Amino acid sequence: MKALESVLVEKGLVDSAALDAIVDYYENRVGPRNGARVVARAWTDPDYRARLMNDATAAIAELDFNGRQGEHMVAVENGPRVHNLVVCTLCSCYPWPVLGLPPVWYKSAPYRSRAVIDPRGVLAEFGTVLPDDTEIRVWDSTAEVRYLVIPERPAGTGNLTEDELAALVSRDSMIGTTLI
Ligand code: FE
Repeated sequence: MKALESVLVEKGLVDSAALDAIVDYYENRVGPRNGARVVARAWTDPDYRARLMNDATAAIAELDFNGRQGEHMVAVENGPRVHNLVVCTLCSCYPWPVLGLPPVWYKSAPYRSRAVIDPRGVLAEFGTVLPDDTEIRVWDSTAEVRYLVIPERPAGTGNLTEDELAALVSRDSMIGTTLI
């Protein structure tokens, strides 16, 4: 993306600020909202949750989210004793249809190596400090399989609608670097 950006800017085809705004739009706003809808549905509909855990690609497609880099999805669920964290150690594989464009840190060499070697330390840097007895499972995305973390539904949200629940779910929680 950056290489493409510098070529386009150099040639005067785009201005850098406009491009940054577009990237921000897909990285932070539009993209991850799809994943948040999947999470909110899983929290509110036990049958949907079961289908999602069984075949995430099909369950995500039920909500009309499909396309490139989302063909083979696996949902992994956080629980009281289990926390899931997604990385792509090789490059930057990421589930585009549900999360949009990957953030810069996801593609960085330090995240890619340290998420595997020291997941607890990486999580702490995101402000996510887990109890010592929480098992951390690290999932390495590939061209074949992309992961979506289903965070735990926060306590005290029993009265919220599906839309309100979706609004609580951050992009980072679906990568697993934060709890919600
Ligand atoms: Fe990759």
